[in-house]
Amino acid sequence: MKLETKIIHAGMTPDPSTGAVMIPIYQTSTYVQEAPGKNKGYEYARSQNPTRFALEEAYAQIENGKYGLAFSSGVAATDTVIKLLQPGDEVIAANDMYGGTYRLFSKVYEKFGIKFHYVNMQDANNIKPFINSNTKLIWAETPTNPLMNIVDIAAVADISKQHNVLLCVDNTFASPYLQNPLNDGADIVMHSATKYLGGHSDVIQGCLVMNDTELRNKLYFIQKSCGAVPGPQDCFLVLRGIKTLHLRMQRHCENGEKIACWLRNHDKVKKVYWPGFEDSPNYSIAKRQMRGFGGMISFELKDESIEACNKVLSSTHLFSLAESLGGVESLINHPASMTHASIPREERIKNGLSDGLIRLSVGVEDADDLIEDLANAMNK
Ligand SMILES: *Cc1c(COP(=O)(O)O)cnc(C)c1O
Repeated sequence: MKLETKIIHAGMTPDPSTGAVMIPIYQTSTYVQEAPGKNKGYEYARSQNPTRFALEEAYAQIENGKYGLAFSSGVAATDTVIKLLQPGDEVIAANDMYGGTYRLFSKVYEKFGIKFHYVNMQDANNIKPFINSNTKLIWAETPTNPLMNIVDIAAVADISKQHNVLLCVDNTFASPYLQNPLNDGADIVMHSATKYLGGHSDVIQGCLVMNDTELRNKLYFIQKSCGAVPGPQDCFLVLRGIKTLHLRMQRHCENGEKIACWLRNHDKVKKVYWPGFEDSPNYSIAKRQMRGFGGMISFELKDESIEACNKVLSSTHLFSLAESLGGVESLINHPASMTHASIPREERIKNGLSDGLIRLSVGVEDADDLIEDLANAMNK
């Protein structure tokens, strides 16, 4: 079945008690039992909820996986993967990734005796020197946030399989519409469903998708034992969001391309980061593993002063100055002071994230209106 069809039908079976076409929001914490231990498969809502189960089935299908698990946020999903590990284990993570992932690894888990190596994964071979018998997990993100670097998932998966190490890919930026890491050999796909999957900036949620049954059971055990589950109302919102994922992504891609090209030709712009330029690093890999290049763009002005950058950030009207991304409305963001402020400045600069970098999440509005908004802000 094609992705567009799965997006609409995944996880949707008419409600057995009423025939309701849409899965109801089962707003309940517990389920009545006929006798001790005799129940309909539902005991307590941290462990089982029909609305969540419908969404988890949808997550699995749209990522071409067997199992999906939903979490109360993207970082809760990441947290669950790290809880597979024990003290002494080592993780190889990307040196250019979501700031909150870096914070979780460096500020929360390092003190529990897990060691993290931050590696530039644009060349998969850079991973090899860091692998040893303690290495248990490779954590990749592609395209990366906010520099849009592309990691070759299949090449990293080759290395992880050779050394019997788990590979988890944060697929938030691409969404399942543009890229399916399990097809390229990843063991786990992680999403912040807060972004493109929810798609309307009205919910916080995360998910994991995998194929291996034993791995699924371990992750489900952590989900239920640690309890970072989403509520049924939030699951309903994400299920509803997913139904238009393909339509939204098509427009995000079209608008993203128009704006990236317009910015590139603007005389005040120094550099544009967008994986769809033929001369951008790893373009051929992006073209192979992605179906389109998405609506995330970063750029730097020729005038590198904070004042010039702030002027643009505070002068747009259609682009709202806000963290987050992937919603239908356009957002503008300053990674150095907002989404990536938790990464120490030296670390950020070393990895190419300058103080003047501006990140756009291009929405699904009319592209010409968006360009006019940016043009006005840049002429201020
Ligand atoms: C937002 C984001 C996360 C964290 O997800 P939350 O839902 O905010 O907890 C992780 N990775 C990426 C790439 C993100 O953009």
